Amino acid sequence: MQPIEMTPTETRPTVTGPPVGSPAPAGAVVVGLDVGGTKILGLSIAADGPPRPVRQQSRPTPRSADALIEELAAVAELVADGAAIARVGVGIPGFIDMDGIPRQAPNLPGVVGVDVGALLRERLRCEVVVDNDANCAAWAAARTDATAARDVVAVTLGTGIGGGLVVDGKLVRGAHGFAGEPGHMIVDPGGPVCACGQRGCWEVWASGTGLGRLAAVAAERGDIPLLVARFDGAPDGPEVTAAARSDDDAMRREAAGVLEAFAGWVAVGIVNLVNLLDPELVLISGGIVAEGDLILDRVRAAVSAVPTMVGGRTPRIEMSAVGPAAGALGAALLAAR
Ligand SMILES: [Zn+2]
Repeated sequence: MQPIEMTPTETRPTVTGPPVGSPAPAGAVVVGLDVGGTKILGLSIAADGPPRPVRQQSRPTPRSADALIEELAAVAELVADGAAIARVGVGIPGFIDMDGIPRQAPNLPGVVGVDVGALLRERLRCEVVVDNDANCAAWAAARTDATAARDVVAVTLGTGIGGGLVVDGKLVRGAHGFAGEPGHMIVDPGGPVCACGQRGCWEVWASGTGLGRLAAVAAERGDIPLLVARFDGAPDGPEVTAAARSDDDAMRREAAGVLEAFAGWVAVGIVNLVNLLDPELVLISGGIVAEGDLILDRVRAAVSAVPTMVGGRTPRIEMSAVGPAAGALGAALLAAR
């Protein structure tokens, strides 16, 4: 596996607008768009400024490709707020090939085979770079969270699980562009069928969706009667975390049991990645970051309890300080020159 250094001239050769190297007009912005299963998060950064969002906006993700392109353009214009758009980076959840075209996107099936970069360039008349959303998040993390860490495993826990691998300061692409997809490591061969069609992928248990699935298992076993009564059936992920913050001790205990199981599954994937790559830092981003206080210590404890994680091999495990906007920020940073 030969890492490809992500210096600005080596971003994917997707679509070019103005000649490469032409200076951005004064006051221009670079836009980052993170396309999630449920929402598009867009932000702008100054083309010649620090990697800090200037303006941010989110909108629901439309289902059809045509509507998605329209909505991406609309969000880009909103966050640009009248400024010239120098470049746009787009993060998409799925397997994105070397030409920036999604080849598999279980959580966003409408975009498969669609040249999002070319279509968006036609609409916005600027250079557009398309990459995997978790690669974007990893890049944001490596550039802003962890400037000292050259070996970073970044995992995005949201509707599914994405990942990005920064090895020796370089984003790992693999032979076809699809490296860094830990969400589809098979960790439970007899487990539930994943959106990708495999059985027992890491993301069936360790994503936001997986949290709800674990609650359903606990409900079926009769482990969480109070939660089932409170939520009129098995709680979903957000209901579990809400219950973990309730004033009711007994209800909090039931939610804690589900969160322990969840942290255990998160740890399974992290341990596999650490055994493979020996990173300095494991960065967790995505929607789950908002619940970091409920999750992080449990994950650290579960990882540390694994026999191979002794002897100073356990990396730092942190929630990304970039927060839920990591994917959008990384997309902007990949597009920026
Ligand atoms: Zn899968």
